[in-house]
Amino acid sequence: MAVSPGNLARVRMHPQGPEFSGVVWGSMRSETQFASSSELAEFLRFLLDRGVTTIDTANTYGEPHPYTVEEFLGKAIAEVGRDKFEIVTKCGIQRLSPHRTENRIRHFDFSETEIRRSVTRSLEKLGIDQADVILLHRPDYLMDPDETGGALDALIAEGKTKYVGVSNFSPSRYDLLASRMKAPLVTNQIEFSPLYLEPISNGRFDHAIVHRYRPMIWSPVGGGRLLTGEGERETKIRALLADVAKRTGLDGPAEAAIAFVARHPAKGVPIVGSGKRERMDGAIKAVNTVMDRQDWYAVVTETSPMLEL
Ligand code: NAP
Repeated sequence: MAVSPGNLARVRMHPQGPEFSGVVWGSMRSETQFASSSELAEFLRFLLDRGVTTIDTANTYGEPHPYTVEEFLGKAIAEVGRDKFEIVTKCGIQRLSPHRTENRIRHFDFSETEIRRSVTRSLEKLGIDQADVILLHRPDYLMDPDETGGALDALIAEGKTKYVGVSNFSPSRYDLLASRMKAPLVTNQIEFSPLYLEPISNGRFDHAIVHRYRPMIWSPVGGGRLLTGEGERETKIRALLADVAKRTGLDGPAEAAIAFVARHPAKGVPIVGSGKRERMDGAIKAVNTVMDRQDWYAVVTETSPMLEL
């Protein structure tokens, strides 16, 4: 059946930040979703046709071994044209991989040396001169904010990226880093879905609203667990979302989950990780649907009955 997803809005992520498409496509699973970079390029053309121009990636993504997705994606981007996309990539996670034999343990590193090394490699692998946004992927508790903030400002000054931001940061950690920087942190990329409600009560969404940036939302359908999980919780939430979808004309529980995520006034932009065209259409339809207030609270109550509302 042909889907009419509607027009996808462009959104400004921060008053001094970039404009993204209202749905971002996440490339984390791309090597398992597409047989080749050319096949991925075809998919990217489809996304462009739908108005999805923003791609999220990270230096660490890769299957079966970390650190390979950027190259796979970069070849596809080269086929389609770099100037058609906003490219967001990340640095700071050190994973065990044949591509990082120096790592004895998974850890985090926001030192200037590592940020520079990582971003240089990312640009090379992606085949681009400049990223749109570089994010610090997960907190490094040994971060020296002067050093890290200086390194991020320098990346902008040197033209390696247009903007910088963070991911999985608490409000206080965002403020700490921002206090030592000239450039604004234009987003915080965080997890939020009907299976993971923390941002509505742990201050992350409040912080985004206060500072007028839009969070990027990762795993809005729980990385697929919402659809395949067999636990009692997943099963109940799936049934609830299926009912909402049926009543609101959405394709199914995943799309209702995306509408749920988009309903919060922090105006988080979902990063959808599907490699299927019809599911991306469903996601666009979902962000164009305003979820009913009582449906939204029904999901919250089902997920976290003890949450202080
Ligand atoms: P997701 O959109 O919640 O999950 C996508 C997975 O669900 C895919 O395996 C997809 O399979 C499956 N799925 C089944 N039905 C779906 C539907 N109707 N709509 C969408 N997906 C459906 O997100 P995710 O892949 O876990 O994460 C999205 C992106 O967020 C990643 O690619 C990455 O860029 C980013 N991310 C960031 C962090 C961070 O720490 N900053 C962490 C995790 C992820 P099919 O391909 O078969 O549809």
